[in-house]
Amino acid sequence: MNKAVFFDRDGTLNEEVHFLHRIEDFTWTEGAIEAVKFCNDHNYLAIVITNQSGVARGYYPEADIMKLHQWMNEQLREHGAHLDAIYYCPHLAEGKIRKYAIECDCRKPRPGMLLRAQKDFDVDMSKSYLIGDGDRDIQCAQAAGACGIRYTGGSLYATLLKGIQRDNRIEALS
Ligand SMILES: [Mg+2]
Ligand SMILES: [Zn+2]
Repeated sequence: MNKAVFFDRDGTLNEEVHFLHRIEDFTWTEGAIEAVKFCNDHNYLAIVITNQSGVARGYYPEADIMKLHQWMNEQLREHGAHLDAIYYCPHLAEGKIRKYAIECDCRKPRPGMLLRAQKDFDVDMSKSYLIGDGDRDIQCAQAAGACGIRYTGGSLYATLLKGIQRDNRIEALS
């Protein structure tokens, strides 16, 4: 089985911008690229899990998200890092675009994206983490059996390392 670090995107890997969908509005947070590279170098899958209700709201199409995510990986590769996968939820029950206006199982805090990744990559959740800046990220981690790490600014890399060091789930099981 594999272990993974799941990353929230907006407000975690990149500075929060209202319904970000353009490359020119994207700024990596401090230590974000180092945090991804740490995962690559230490046998953790690096997987993004992001709510993108802007699609259901009609603010931008899925193609914009894919373009942005491709660009993120190109940037990371310049630093010898990469994301293993990116999962996004385009849904919102009260959204304007009919196709996406559903009560889905993947919008965080629901654990659908984590569970899909778990299946796709054979992830052991008891050795995995979700780092994010929102309550729904922490709730999502708990719902899927991963350890939630709260990011409140500063270095994302330092926050991730501290979170992994503080993980006491192994002791809690015995
Ligand atoms: Mg966020
Ligand atoms: Zn969804």
